[in-house]
Amino acid sequence: MNKFAGIIIDNDSIQLDRIFTYGIPEELISSVKLGHRVKVPFGFNNKIIDGYVLEFYSDIAEINNLKYIKSVCEDYPLLRDADLELVRIMRENYLCTYLEGIKAIIPSAVTKGLSKKVSEVLYTGKELYGKYLKEGYISILKLVQENNGKYNKNELAKNYNISLSSLNTMLKHGFLTQEKVIIERFNAREFEAYDEKVLNKEQQSVVDSVLNSKDNVFLLHGVTGSGKTEVYMNLVRNMLNIDKESIILVPEISLTPQMIERFKGRFGRDICIFHSKLSDGERYDEWMRVKEGRVKVAIGARSAVFLPFNNLGLIVIDEEHENSYKSDSDPKYNAREIAEIRCSKEHCKLILGSATPSVETFYKAVSGKIDYLSIRSRADNALMPEVDIIDMREELNSDNRSILSRRLYNEIQECLAKKEQVILFLNRRGFSSFVSCRKCGFVFKCQSCDISLTYHHENHMLHCHYCGKRERAKSICPSCGSKYVKFFGVGTEKVEQEINRFFPQAKTLRMDFDTTRKKNSYEDIYRSFKEGKADILIGTQMIAKGLDFKNVTLVGVIAADLTLNLPDFRAAERTFQLITQVSGRAGRGDKPGKVIVQTYSPENYSIKYSATNDYLGFYTEEIKLREDMNYPPFSQIMSITLSSKDENLLIKNIQNIGILLKNKVSEYDKIDMLGPVPCSISKIKDMYRWQIIFKGDLTKEFCFSIRNMVYELLKDNYNHIRISIDVNPNTLM
Ligand code: ADP
Ligand code: ZN
Ligand code: ZN
Repeated sequence: MNKFAGIIIDNDSIQLDRIFTYGIPEELISSVKLGHRVKVPFGFNNKIIDGYVLEFYSDIAEINNLKYIKSVCEDYPLLRDADLELVRIMRENYLCTYLEGIKAIIPSAVTKGLSKKVSEVLYTGKELYGKYLKEGYISILKLVQENNGKYNKNELAKNYNISLSSLNTMLKHGFLTQEKVIIERFNAREFEAYDEKVLNKEQQSVVDSVLNSKDNVFLLHGVTGSGKTEVYMNLVRNMLNIDKESIILVPEISLTPQMIERFKGRFGRDICIFHSKLSDGERYDEWMRVKEGRVKVAIGARSAVFLPFNNLGLIVIDEEHENSYKSDSDPKYNAREIAEIRCSKEHCKLILGSATPSVETFYKAVSGKIDYLSIRSRADNALMPEVDIIDMREELNSDNRSILSRRLYNEIQECLAKKEQVILFLNRRGFSSFVSCRKCGFVFKCQSCDISLTYHHENHMLHCHYCGKRERAKSICPSCGSKYVKFFGVGTEKVEQEINRFFPQAKTLRMDFDTTRKKNSYEDIYRSFKEGKADILIGTQMIAKGLDFKNVTLVGVIAADLTLNLPDFRAAERTFQLITQVSGRAGRGDKPGKVIVQTYSPENYSIKYSATNDYLGFYTEEIKLREDMNYPPFSQIMSITLSSKDENLLIKNIQNIGILLKNKVSEYDKIDMLGPVPCSISKIKDMYRWQIIFKGDLTKEFCFSIRNMVYELLKDNYNHIRISIDVNPNTLM
């Protein structure tokens, strides 16, 4: 019999990141299960705190001072058996604590004492009689009859302008009755039906391969507009038919109304929607619907990969190349990897879908580790858009200093004349990218971050895009006093202004971080554009994905160089992906699409191959570079970033650590250590930042021992130095 339990304590301290042994009192032995949340006494004063049961023992060596579990929190375990293993794997792979792993799996909304929302809704009761048989009561009764069980009395009173006192009278005499029901806080809106389509040959063959194969993991490489979503939905339907559950992951920013519209329109409202913008109440309800087996399909961002389905048949990761699948706070997990683990443990299918697969995933397909499936033509026979590259240096030579090349200008004009729509893409928000003095070269920088400030025309302020600080824009240089302060570079705000100047008759919409802060603003902009209420949509990468507008025939990329010049080994890959994705927004209806890409580096391979939609060409060049430079997928990377308000303390410590780590690394001939060096953004929010990077054949043991060394060496400075360790980070900035 299991009389003892190994428990993870709900305390963030890294020193307590181990399994504590507790006794299980006789009366709880039958109710405590693995994965249960329990209350336990902890510490000198035996404070009662939460713990999670990770393992059981029938016997233990040391029984002195044993403490006992006090009580069980829920009548069912919050963690499934498979989750317990996942927690251990995350701790190994991402160097997080047990607790961080557990908290990634169970949303805090579930453990912080929320509960289901109860409301007393109205039903009709006995028939009116005698003096109550009058107009007012009759109409109320009729209303309630039409809405039996839908509203409580306050809602009814408010929605239909009825006096509460009439309702109270009717309740008192039994003409109305109230009943307690659980109110679901998820979005229960009904959507227009999205009818099933007959799959074309390529789509059908993908579905067949997935269902008939013995293998579990597939790359679905389908050009933009190839109807991947239809394939996903077909697979979900197949899973439903055999009573299995599905999770569809999409990047946070493309969890658009469109995606939800399609899924709810196809499968009804019994779909769990799970993302970071839910309120705690909504998140609680959605999670519980899954936990209690009331839904079989979930669609969500990264964290939905953990949803506690018990009979999972399918996980889809749409736009698998997106960075947002990797978490940047602990545990720094990658949903792609978690999905792979779940698939192998829970025997379900995993589809990694993309028009521009990540180099890592494509490499796996090439080397036969996962299956490769492709769709080469657009669904419903729409053509791929024609892409033209414009060399902006030539524009300068011809004395065109505007943000639009002559070609793009003409194309926009033509498009507007035909009453078709235009999308203009620029991956930078605000008005100008930096502000500087033409006389002395002074650049306005954020006082808290090592980054130049962006001018925002809307409020005449300089914004820091890292910490959000703002200051009033000045027209006098604070360094030399000259009045030659100028704005340089272009952001979406400036593009909008210029477009309005060039094409005053056109209606424009802008979609970026600044215009989508309010809760429904994204949806509003999306709908207005879809309904043709504007001619030109200007935006950042928010508009690059997933959007399917039939009347868009022209896409302009204002400056393809922005991502290309980032100091990151994935810069070329990102550029290729972004241009391809944004080009994919063009020509989705029956009219052909055109894409104009403006750049100062037209000869760059990522730009050239994206113009010919040649993924393989791009991959072939990129993978050679990766191999030559020993970057992923040929190596792993681990970054250790230390940050502190105290620059001297930080430098002293990281240099000290650097020497010791260098010694350690010299024992391994397949691992390189780079640094310590200041990060490329050397200060954020008043915290100075330095970095050490390991590259090579990093084993789990190696990473773990490095982590332990770093924590040990810094243990007297935890209050002053922040440690962030990332295995296979998205970027090295
Ligand atoms: P992707 O996600 O691959 O970019 P979508 O799923 O958005 O492509 O599909 C592109 C368009 O093609 C959508 O408007 C979709 O409704 C349509 N479509 C997809 N499959 C079919 C099909 N079998 N028959 C007709 N139209 C289809
Ligand atoms: Zn100056
Ligand atoms: Zn700042």
